[in-house]
Amino acid sequence: MEKSYSCNIKQKQQGKFAIRLRAVGGDLTVEQLSAISAVAEKYGAGGVHLTTRQGVEIHEVSTENLKAAQAELESAGLKMGAEGNRVRIVMACPGNATCRFGAINTKSLAAELDRRYFRMDTPYKLKMGVTGCPNNCGKAREADIGVMGVRVPKWTAEGCIQCNICVDVCAPKAIHEADGLYIRNPDACIGCSACTVRCPKGCWNTVSYGYTVLIGGTLGKLPRLGTPLAENLASEEEVLELIDRVVEYFKKHGMKRERLGHMLDRLGQEKVLKELRSDVPV
Ligand code: SF4
Ligand code: SF4
Ligand code: SF4
Repeated sequence: MEKSYSCNIKQKQQGKFAIRLRAVGGDLTVEQLSAISAVAEKYGAGGVHLTTRQGVEIHEVSTENLKAAQAELESAGLKMGAEGNRVRIVMACPGNATCRFGAINTKSLAAELDRRYFRMDTPYKLKMGVTGCPNNCGKAREADIGVMGVRVPKWTAEGCIQCNICVDVCAPKAIHEADGLYIRNPDACIGCSACTVRCPKGCWNTVSYGYTVLIGGTLGKLPRLGTPLAENLASEEEVLELIDRVVEYFKKHGMKRERLGHMLDRLGQEKVLKELRSDVPV
């Protein structure tokens, strides 16, 4: 059975705390929402705060009510979040569970990342984000470790009505038309799903799905976008193996209060990427 932890964040008001809950990938059941509502009404200020990373916080809980509030939340299957120098709640967009653009199952991957790493001690906070496609709703580029679904499309002439929608919706201009044929430039294509979803005749079909792993993204005081570590990986297992290496590397080489991206900058991005991509233990 999973150990129970608290995540009570001290407010500026003396004797008051915010209870941070852990909603992996931003998902909660209606039963959990009811329990949150009941606890917020009974012990909090009658409302919740939705954090920028899909967390839910119940504010204004008094010191003497923290235990009772947590017990009631946990009895509804809710788990507490994390703060401090450790792996935080894993964010995810809905991915291919419901989104037309989704290239990967973000929910299963977020759940596995949560199972493996949540609350693991690290040199500084470590945030993970999983996003179903390069639209990046899951903020993978802004996470210390981000995973992004991608797809490789292929055009077939059958049924094409030459409407040019695919050319117009392709943000990186990777499609062009020549003599009635629609040609994709694989070097420019970012695998965003726009052509496959928007073509009214289904002429752009997906030939493969993959995962891109990005590292070193962060917002905050010293923002930085994530750097691609591996592109178009074929399976969740490969992604997890690589993330294991990144987490170990950060634990070994990261400095106190240094985000993973800033460690890359300090040690030299090319050097770190090379080491992470090799087979040599980190
Ligand atoms: S990132 Fe892509 S898959 Fe995820 S919600 Fe946005 S559009 Fe959909
Ligand atoms: S997947 Fe996106 S980037 Fe690639 S060709 Fe289609 S629309 Fe363009
Ligand atoms: S969107 Fe589809 S139908 Fe229109 S030009 Fe492109 S491939 Fe042809």
